[in-house]
Amino acid sequence: DVLCIGHASFDLVFAVPHHPAADEKIFANTLLACGGGPAANAAVTVARLGLKAGFAGYLGTDLYGERHLEELREAGIDTQAVVRGSSPTPLSAVLVKPDGRRALVNYKGDTRPLPPQDFSAPPTPARCVLFDGHEPGLSEPALSWARAHDAATVLDAGSLHTGSEWLMFRVGHLVASEKFAAQWLGKDTPEQALAALAERSPCVVVTLGERGLIWRRGAESGRLPAFPVAAVDTTGAGDVFHGAYAAGLAAGMDWLDLLRYASAAGALCCTRLGARPGIPSRHEVERLLGE
Ligand code: ADP
Repeated sequence: DVLCIGHASFDLVFAVPHHPAADEKIFANTLLACGGGPAANAAVTVARLGLKAGFAGYLGTDLYGERHLEELREAGIDTQAVVRGSSPTPLSAVLVKPDGRRALVNYKGDTRPLPPQDFSAPPTPARCVLFDGHEPGLSEPALSWARAHDAATVLDAGSLHTGSEWLMFRVGHLVASEKFAAQWLGKDTPEQALAALAERSPCVVVTLGERGLIWRRGAESGRLPAFPVAAVDTTGAGDVFHGAYAAGLAAGMDWLDLLRYASAAGALCCTRLGARPGIPSRHEVERLLGE
């Protein structure tokens, strides 16, 4: 139903009392070790929501790559389009404080973006293709494939870089973070960014974290507040939002229901430590929606 294309990493998430200063040694209360990356997290979200998901991107042949691949397979995700190689699997160390604020260290070694010929079209057509913009080489062949199959296309635009810039006005749905909107337009408000983006895109959503989202679709526009939840760690809220958004499109949901569905999924992710463990099931999302 949904093919997610982009970044896969491995996350080590430490819950710490505070962020360490230079030469300071601290102990973490909790350690989570699990797969991460926007597109991979979105693929797991689609699967937990009960739809078929595939992931296309890179994983190394190292320990972390093996572990992550196994996690994806256990989640029921089609991993045929995963490219393996001897470069390391990107690794993230995330230090989360009790107030939810994070410090991050990322490592990707000599890992390079995949070339276009590494896109292998899945045997069955998808109803939706979600890009996180982190594998720019795959964008063109994947977009042609999506168009040939009349699949909806979504860009999770988290930050502005060459990959997201090429895709932003070529996809049917541009789902931008507040940071992306600000980077693209300078210091303007999210509302101004939304208006400017919507001049060149049929459907734009700007997500505003705990303040919810604003959207514009053709001549219609609106705002949706976030679901009030006790947030523990907001890591992955955006990834889960995008996965649920793509799942909603693939399932043919009505527009406002789709936005509520994705917002509920994103909010639930904030109630647990880490991105992957925070991904809710369909049942949990429906419960929050009162269905
Ligand atoms: P990104 O991580 O891509 O910047 P956001 O932080 O904007 O994404 O979050 C995406 C969506 O997830 C929001 O629009 C909102 O619906 C939901 N969300 C994020 N943070 C919270 C929060 N603290 N409480 C409730 N919902 C949240």
